[in-house]
Order: sequence, then structure tokens, then C-alpha cells
Amino acid sequence: MERVVGIDLGTTNSVVAYFEQGQPIVIHNAEGSTLTPSVVYYKSPREVVVGELARRNLVLSPKQVIRSVKRFMGARFSELGERRRGISYELVEGPDDSVLIDVGWTRVAPEQVSAEILKKMKRTAEEFFGEEIEQAVITVPAYFNDNQRAATKRAGELAGLNVLRIINEPTAAALAYGVARNTPHSVVVFDFGGGTTDVTILDVDKDVIEVRSTRGDTFLGGDNIDELLSQFVVERFFKDTGVDLAADPITYQRVREAAEKVKCELSTTTESIISVPFIAVGPQGSPLHLHYPVTRAQLEALMDPLLPRLIECCRIALDDARLKRSDIANILLVGGSTRIPCVVKALAEFFGREPSRILNPDEAVAMGAAIQASIISGALREVLLLDVTPLSLGIETAGGVFTPLIPRNSSIPVAVHKQFTTVRDNQTSVKIHVLQGERKKASENHSLGWFRLTGITPAPKEIPCIDVCFQIDANGLLHVSATEVTSGISNSITIECFGSLEMEDAERIAEEAQAAAEEDRLFLRKVSLVKQGEALIEELEPLLQDQERPLDPMTAANLREAIFRFEVAKATDRIEDIERALEGLNELASSLGERLLAKRLESLEE
Ligand code: AMP
Repeated sequence: MERVVGIDLGTTNSVVAYFEQGQPIVIHNAEGSTLTPSVVYYKSPREVVVGELARRNLVLSPKQVIRSVKRFMGARFSELGERRRGISYELVEGPDDSVLIDVGWTRVAPEQVSAEILKKMKRTAEEFFGEEIEQAVITVPAYFNDNQRAATKRAGELAGLNVLRIINEPTAAALAYGVARNTPHSVVVFDFGGGTTDVTILDVDKDVIEVRSTRGDTFLGGDNIDELLSQFVVERFFKDTGVDLAADPITYQRVREAAEKVKCELSTTTESIISVPFIAVGPQGSPLHLHYPVTRAQLEALMDPLLPRLIECCRIALDDARLKRSDIANILLVGGSTRIPCVVKALAEFFGREPSRILNPDEAVAMGAAIQASIISGALREVLLLDVTPLSLGIETAGGVFTPLIPRNSSIPVAVHKQFTTVRDNQTSVKIHVLQGERKKASENHSLGWFRLTGITPAPKEIPCIDVCFQIDANGLLHVSATEVTSGISNSITIECFGSLEMEDAERIAEEAQAAAEEDRLFLRKVSLVKQGEALIEELEPLLQDQERPLDPMTAANLREAIFRFEVAKATDRIEDIERALEGLNELASSLGERLLAKRLESLEE
């Protein structure tokens, strides 16, 4: 059987993958990376360079290095408009209103440029397999019209490929994420790449995936973030040294590259340093180095104006599909920029559920293309019909509360991260108790297992950040891991999460939880009141021990009494008693607060 590969021909990067032994595998190129920059350098009639090496010549040969050519595939010259923005090479009119790129020594059509990228992807696969590869499935954005699709097919043919099918990128991503299941549902594919954003809503019914609506912003991507961070750094450097790093394109490109690197690092760390040694020469001829710490918070502040634009794309895609946010069963992430935590957070807030992060967002589309390729070639008879989680999965948190991470009815595979912290000062271990069910009270749910994370760096309570990840693979195995972000220490457990649970049992459990909703509401109320009371007592108790400014005996007695009343009320399940005791504590706290404040003011005046 002839081998068929899947190719994601991207605006910024391209990826090639194949399907073997039940799973898609991404191939590394000669430079050792799975991502090949979609950049072509027309160096001379004898030499055309593609990928990373071409990208490095962007600044020195701006007119001969072609990037983002995808924007011009199948386009008419008279309708280019906005698409010319940010392009350093020259576009000229070709026959029949077509677009040509003038690289000095020749003129090339966009599909010829894409063909060079596809040739490189073909070579990558051939070097890997040690045999010729002639068949491919290539992906295009869902909004591509017939002209653009035909141009992509032609590019494949020019590269010596037999293009078996052109498929939509979001559809490929959905295949890779394995969204197919027995009940019809809608998913959103959020693709936030280097230069563009595409939001697509797909209807999935069994193994049929259809595009319901799609909305994009062709000038919104990771590049915008690199630009914002570069400008921020350039301004600061100018203030500090009087040197404008944006004045020279080569210098500015070095800043841009460093900014992109720091941006990527800040997706996993909270602080990094933008550093470019010998960036400029100072007034006295001494070398100047760029060296500024940058925090994730600073980057997020810079990105603030971009997030509403991303959410607006989602809102419009939903409106066009005539769907509500709650109709969306899954949010699939595609494109390198979806690794940015505040982007994921904004999406989670908008849709009210955590996006699926199980796949590498750069590779999901190529993986889906490889799956499609194997379906066409007959190697894979049908799309695997994957399941949903019948009940919510989560952990027990302070006060015996069940905190779900994966809501019930999420399609699998799925992966969700959530951050937690400690409840006591210098707490060095936490228990991760994994539960399944719909009740708010952890003890009412089904316990699946537990483990302890020890060796947490001692710190005041609520400071440590513990990342808990729930991941269910295609076989229904639940992998739970907990990692302390600062030290990187980690522990994990693997559980067969569905066990012998039948769907009817799950329905019954969910119905019982509904019936117990009021009981659960009271339980949560109690936990919240107890938490408030304990926080107050923690503040007030030291006043009883204060030798320097002892409380007058009457107040001290009242305080002891109020604390005692609260402890007694806490031991009962009577909400009114706890509320009353908390009120008592609150009154005392405010009167003591005033008294202390008054004393402090007096002492200031002395
Ligand atoms: P794509 O078009 O999907 O290849 O995405 C490329 C974009 O993703 C570029 O702007 C990259 O800087 C960005 N990117 C890749 N990895 C990360 C990361 N870890 N954090 C933030 N952005 C990233």
C-alpha cells in the first residue's frame, strides 16, 4: 500500500505527519524540528532555500525572502487591499489579475512559493522513510474559497505530489482531538497562530464533521504580541540610554527575536529576562547590552487590548452558528499562541469550560491530516468513536468540597490544568484525593484514589502554586498529576476512571445530585462561613496573647466567649447558629479594629 502523508501548510509554519500503528506521528525535518517555517528565500537561479535558513535571511534580503505567502494563494491582484500589510517583498500584477512576487531575478506565483515549501515537506518525509512519497492530504483554512483551494492543490502538484484531498484545518484538528462520538454535538476550534486567528464551529455527528461557521482575524497572531513586547523594550531602552533600537532594521529584528523567545518562555514561567548582548554602541563608543527582566504580568498587561479581539471572534462565530456558549461541548486549541495562559483563561471564562489541551497545538492539524490520509488510503477503516466522561472528575479541596476539573459529558481524550495552593503556613505536603461524581460534598462522591505531593517549598499559606492536571487518554485511563510550579516537584497516579460504570448508573447519580442540590448549597454555605470565621479567629487570637498591649479583661472575656461560641456552632450543621456566631466575631473584630486603629493614631501623634 502506498504511503500517504498529511501536510499542514501553515501561514507561519508547516508540519508533515503520517499514521502508523493506530496513531499519527509528526516527522522532524533535517534541522531537527517538527515545525518548518513557511519561508522561502529566492537566493539565486540555482538556489532556493526553505525553512529556518530562509527565515534567518528575512532582514538582510527582505525582497527575496517570502513569508506569509498563504495570504496570496488564489488571490486577485485588484482585491489585495489589506493583505499587503507588513509585506517586505514586492507584489506585481500578473496575467488575468493574478498576483506575482518580484524577487529581483525572477517573478513567482504564490503557488510556486507554496510548492517550494511543500517540496521541503515531501523531502522531510522521504528522508524519514527512505522512499519516495507521492501522495498527500493538505489542509487549508475553513474560509478558503474554491480559487484558494485550487491554488493549494496546484502547489501540491508543482511539488510533485498527488493531492488526494484538501481538507479544512479545523476539521483536521477535530479528527486529531478525536471528537467523534455517538451523539451529535458542536465543538469550537480556536486557532491562534503566528499571524492569524481563526475560530471555527464544527458540528460533529458520529464520524461526520461539518463546518457550521468560521470567523477569523487575518492580522491577529503571535506576531502582534512580539511587536508589543519589542516596542515596550525599545521605549524603555531609549529612556535609559537615549538609543533608539527601532532605528536600524537589523537591530530591531534582534529585539523581535529575543522578544518572541521571552514571550514563549513566559507561557511556562512567570518571570524571564530579555537579553541581547552588544545590541548597540553608547555615546562614548562603549557597547550597550539589552538586559531587562520581564514578568508574565507585564506581558499580560501588554496583551490586554488583544484579548477582547480574540473573544469577539468567538462571539461572532457563535452568533453565525446560532449557538449559545453552553451548546459547545469542547474547545480545541490549535496554533502555538494558544500556549499563552491568559488566552486559555479568557476562553475558559467566555465558554464556561476549560479548553482541551491534550495535543501539541502546533501539530494537531498535521496529525489530523495524517488521520484523514490513512482513512483515504484504507489503512484506517473508520474514525475511532470515542466516548464522553459520564460523570465529573475532580479533587477534594479545603473544607471537604469537591472541585471538578473535567465536567461530565466532556469528550475524551481531554486534558485540563487547574492551579491550587496551600491552606497553612509552611505546609510542605498536600493530599490529592481524586473523586468522581456530581455532589459538592466530596464525601458523597465516589473516591477513585489519592496520592500525596510532598516536598513543597515552605512558604506562607496561599503562596505556593500547585498545578494539578487531569488527563484522560483515548483508552479511558485517567492520569492525574500535581506539580509545585516553583520547585518542579511532581507526583502522579493513573486510574481507570470509568471502571464498570454503566451510562444508566451515571444518569442516576447525576439525577440524585440534582435532587440533593439544596443540601449541597447549604453545605457550601457552611464551608464558606467556617472559612470566614477561621480567618477572623486567626487575626483575633493573637490579640489575647499580646503582652505589650493587653486587652482589657472585659473585652478579652468577650473575645474568648465569641471564639468558643463559633467553635461550638461549627461543630453543628446549623447554618443559623454559625451565622450568628460569625456575626459576633465580626462585631468584635470591627470594634477591636477601631480601638487598635485609634491607639495607633494616638501613638503616631506622640
Ligand atoms: P503557528 O502559526 O501555529 O505555527 O504558531 C506560531 C506562533 O506561536 C508564533 O507567534 C510563536 O511565537 C507562537 N508560540 C509558539 N510557542 C509558544 C509558546 N510557548 N508561548 C507563546 N507563544 C508561542
